[in-house]
Amino acid sequence: MALENCTLCRGTGWKLVPRADGAAGSMAVACDCGMQDRATRVMERARIPKRYEHCDFESYVTDLTDGKTWMAQHAQSLKQAKLVTQGFVREYPGSSEKGLLFIGPSGVGKTHLAVAALKELIHRGHAGLFCDYRELLKEIQASYNPASESTEMKILEPIRTVEILVLDDLGASKPSDWVRDIVGIVLNARYNENRTTIITTNYLDNPATEGEAARLPGGKLILPTREDSLEQRIGSRMRSRLYEMCRTIEVSAPDFRREKTQAGRARA
Ligand code: ADP
Repeated sequence: MALENCTLCRGTGWKLVPRADGAAGSMAVACDCGMQDRATRVMERARIPKRYEHCDFESYVTDLTDGKTWMAQHAQSLKQAKLVTQGFVREYPGSSEKGLLFIGPSGVGKTHLAVAALKELIHRGHAGLFCDYRELLKEIQASYNPASESTEMKILEPIRTVEILVLDDLGASKPSDWVRDIVGIVLNARYNENRTTIITTNYLDNPATEGEAARLPGGKLILPTREDSLEQRIGSRMRSRLYEMCRTIEVSAPDFRREKTQAGRARA
């Protein structure tokens, strides 16, 4: 839809430009003033946060190899993750997998790829929603307040039924029976209706146990325990359900934000 206050088309959606064949006079062409507006509306309807507005496949960098922090295997991992995601989008809804599960440390671009996929599918006319796992749980908790006009059912309805759901940061909230119940309600409903779910999580399946120290790409030593596993965060039933619902994509690379900031500082 054209913008009402556009100085070129005055809200008609058509603007006059010189004739393409070079002859005198002008011709009417479609005005693209509403494009940005449309893109914004798509993002709002899908509840994609502003901080992920820029995420698409073109802006996802896969080769930053510097031989120090960014090694060849990181480039390979990013390239593979991007290829599989693009393949999934290309084949949708015919893809053999019903969803994707991005697993990897923070800042490697898991959400970036999930949003890139969601945006492309929405532009093709599919319905989709972005849902921040932690925010969802907080919203449901707030609905238990008697003064709240919302209810758990109302909040969960679109999350359970939308055609494509991006569930970001699965497992990020402190696990409890209640948390696992909510995860179960969402994933079981989507599984039963064969709906597409694209998930990101920082929780690995088999993190190192104490004594098996792991080193982050930046060199920092971490000593995770089994409590950090995805299974522990969402429960073993839901973890195994995800095997049926999603193709797992492990992303291994340094934290993009940290490395970019440091590279910026080094240049300054
Ligand atoms: P994660 O979900 O793995 O924690 P994000 O997707 O939130 O990471 O990425 C953090 C920020 O870094 C985002 O702004 C994202 O666009 C950017 N980013 C991460 N990886 C890449 C990449 N390979 N190319 C371009 N931008 C990236």
